[in-house]
Amino acid sequence: MCMKTEFLFLTILNSGPKHPRASLDVFLRPLIEELKELWSTGVEAYDISLNKNFNLKAVLLWTISDFPAYGMLSGWTTHGRLACPICMEDTKAFQLPNGRKTCWFDCHRRYLPHGHQLRKNKTSFLKGKHAIRDYPPQSLTGEQVLYERIRQVNPLKTSDCGGNGHEVKQRGYGDWHNWHKESIFWELPYWTDLNLRHNLDVMHIEKNFFDNIMNTIMNVKDRSKDTVKSRLDVARFCDRKEVHVDNQGKAPFPNFRLTQPAKEALLKCVKNDVKFTRREIFRHEES
Ligand SMILES: [Zn+2]
Repeated sequence: MCMKTEFLFLTILNSGPKHPRASLDVFLRPLIEELKELWSTGVEAYDISLNKNFNLKAVLLWTISDFPAYGMLSGWTTHGRLACPICMEDTKAFQLPNGRKTCWFDCHRRYLPHGHQLRKNKTSFLKGKHAIRDYPPQSLTGEQVLYERIRQVNPLKTSDCGGNGHEVKQRGYGDWHNWHKESIFWELPYWTDLNLRHNLDVMHIEKNFFDNIMNTIMNVKDRSKDTVKSRLDVARFCDRKEVHVDNQGKAPFPNFRLTQPAKEALLKCVKNDVKFTRREIFRHEES
């Protein structure tokens, strides 16, 4: 229902041309004030079925956004080693020595139920590693996040430092926390009572995932994730000898890459057999 036009309600439009970045809370201010009023006193509204006025109250259940916007809404920066807002400082993220990127491979097996068979697997994840006795980080309540985490670090509120004031980071930023601000949402009197405050809209994530998989299996030049550097990293972290670079420096043809006839068959199928239907899509201007 919430994705249908008749239930959508435009509340703010940010003016361009620049991305609001850390100053998003400046733009959210009018919305937050209205939400506070809708929670405490409510507004007079008309009920057509009863033909009379009533006091309408409303609550913000949660936010839905892509991953970059998650950081702008929550105040926890979603890039760098501490990008995962659930693992936070307990992250198992590591640097790929050849790809030179932060990697979250096998960081989340510990969230599986204990006894799950993938926890025993020592070949499909980090080589030689099982996750039988790995525990996920403690699940925090909203109150714990605000009082035991954010307020311990004391990142500034946008109302105190202005939209551009978040350049100055608190001690430990990027090291043991990623709080760049105390989000304006904490002003809502019920925000600490919500156990799920921010959700990810999978549309952009699925699109990026799809692009990367297609570019990799089609071996698109400069777009494929399968590079010599990634093969070297695979050799270091994974038990997949069939793709390791050999001692002459040659990378074997991987089983995930499509052969020329397979590529042609796929493209022919997309061209002739796949039917696309029209659907409303909300486009994101920047990611
Ligand atoms: Zn995580």
